[in-house]
Amino acid sequence: MAQLITTLGPKRADELGLILPHEHVFVDLRTWDQPGYAQAETHAVITLMAPEIARAQAAGVTALVECSTVGIGRRPDILKAVSEATGLPLVVPTGVYREPWIPDWIQAATEADLRDWMTGELLDEIRPDGVKAGWIKLSAGDDGLTECEAKVLRAAAAAGVTTNAVIGSHTIRGRVVRDQLKIIEGAGYTPERFIWIHTQAESDFGLHVEMARRGAWIEYDAIGSDHLSDDFFVERIQRVLDAGLGDRLLLSHDRGSYDPALPGGGTPKPFTYLSEQFLPKLRQAGLDEPTLRQLTQSNPFRAFAR
Ligand SMILES: [Zn+2]
Repeated sequence: MAQLITTLGPKRADELGLILPHEHVFVDLRTWDQPGYAQAETHAVITLMAPEIARAQAAGVTALVECSTVGIGRRPDILKAVSEATGLPLVVPTGVYREPWIPDWIQAATEADLRDWMTGELLDEIRPDGVKAGWIKLSAGDDGLTECEAKVLRAAAAAGVTTNAVIGSHTIRGRVVRDQLKIIEGAGYTPERFIWIHTQAESDFGLHVEMARRGAWIEYDAIGSDHLSDDFFVERIQRVLDAGLGDRLLLSHDRGSYDPALPGGGTPKPFTYLSEQFLPKLRQAGLDEPTLRQLTQSNPFRAFAR
């Protein structure tokens, strides 16, 4: 039976409700070679983030997918401590972000080395933190994959064949997603285990439909952002549903988080916007409860469970 692999162990669908598929509890967007990169006291992260997580839980959030991968401040030990302090299961990634965030050891590694590294973190655990990775998060350059990013993706697809883990990629342009799906299929994996993160950034809606028809997950993960209105997302979501692709769509905020680059970790943004502000607007627009449950519960579970 498919289970969501979390910091609090494997979870079945009937143990979960609303799942946020793209958020950050802890992130550091400075590159790995900067002083202080990814450094923080665990108790300081808990102090800042636990109240936000409690509000999210009160608003119905039952699990959250952490998207800070290697290169942008992945800290499985801190995530595990936050989960244990709050009771919220987090889904931690293996994989690595795009250039120039890719550390030297990954630049130097062979494709087989990277496949074995990701497979080990997905089937066994992330060393030395004792957390099992739940999925693979990577990224691509805005104008196309570099050689190293393509190597990482081929390795991820090979790890996916062994583990059935979903691969999520921060990819801004739809035509780059086309290249990524070709690589995944070439490695014997399937577009159905690929999430196009930040789909809303591609202005050509035809590409959203094209990738979802090919089987990929599309993800509108800037709900509640300052740049894109709720009306924008309501209209996009209705068009996806009208195209019969409601079973390929994910919704999230891309919010958080404790950021060690900022004094005191900065000011987190609430994980409650989707539940408290946005879902009522989808109801007003005529979406029924089964459709809302599909978009916020069964879709993210199906995407990430393995
Ligand atoms: Zn993100």
